Amino acid sequence: MEEPVVGEVFVPTVEEEGGNIIGLGVFSSESIAMNVLKDYFKHSWKGKILSANLARWEVDLIGHDGLTLLAKWSCQICPMCERPTFWIDLDHFSALCYGTACGAWMEDNIYEEDVIDIGVPTIRWLHQSRSIKQAMIEFRKKKVEMRAAAGDHDDDLVTTAMEDAKTRMERLMRKEGLTSLGDALGAGISEEE
Ligand SMILES: [Zn+2]
Repeated sequence: MEEPVVGEVFVPTVEEEGGNIIGLGVFSSESIAMNVLKDYFKHSWKGKILSANLARWEVDLIGHDGLTLLAKWSCQICPMCERPTFWIDLDHFSALCYGTACGAWMEDNIYEEDVIDIGVPTIRWLHQSRSIKQAMIEFRKKKVEMRAAAGDHDDDLVTTAMEDAKTRMERLMRKEGLTSLGDALGAGISEEE
């Protein structure tokens, strides 16, 4: 009997909401299968994806004896960019947002067991938390803080612009001897007539 040419294959799959399983192909090496999967992670916002896994199948074996589940991931809404591109590796406990221009990540601290490192490279932010729940809260707090900073800035500009306009209008009205905006508009119309 001839030896089989291919002894094992690597099969990445993703699961959609509703239980539909999408196969991403059958590959001859784990690294190729992994790259295919990670490329898919970048696009998970396009569909309603719940999870993914990477399986190794030994060929020519009947039934599930040939199956080894190598890794599982859960797809979550990213706490920073709010897109469903935040993939949590359920075996090694680490998470990464594959969304472009985000890259929020979370992983176990390699030295301290009960410490979780989190970060957002695009804003050079790093933080440490004691639990996943706490880590998610810290992410959201950071996001709110960033939004508030951006929002306050805009509000200040708008307020300043409005104050300037009001002051200018009042100055003009005093010059014209008018007491209200209605008078000013009325005067404008009568001038045009
Ligand atoms: Zn993100």
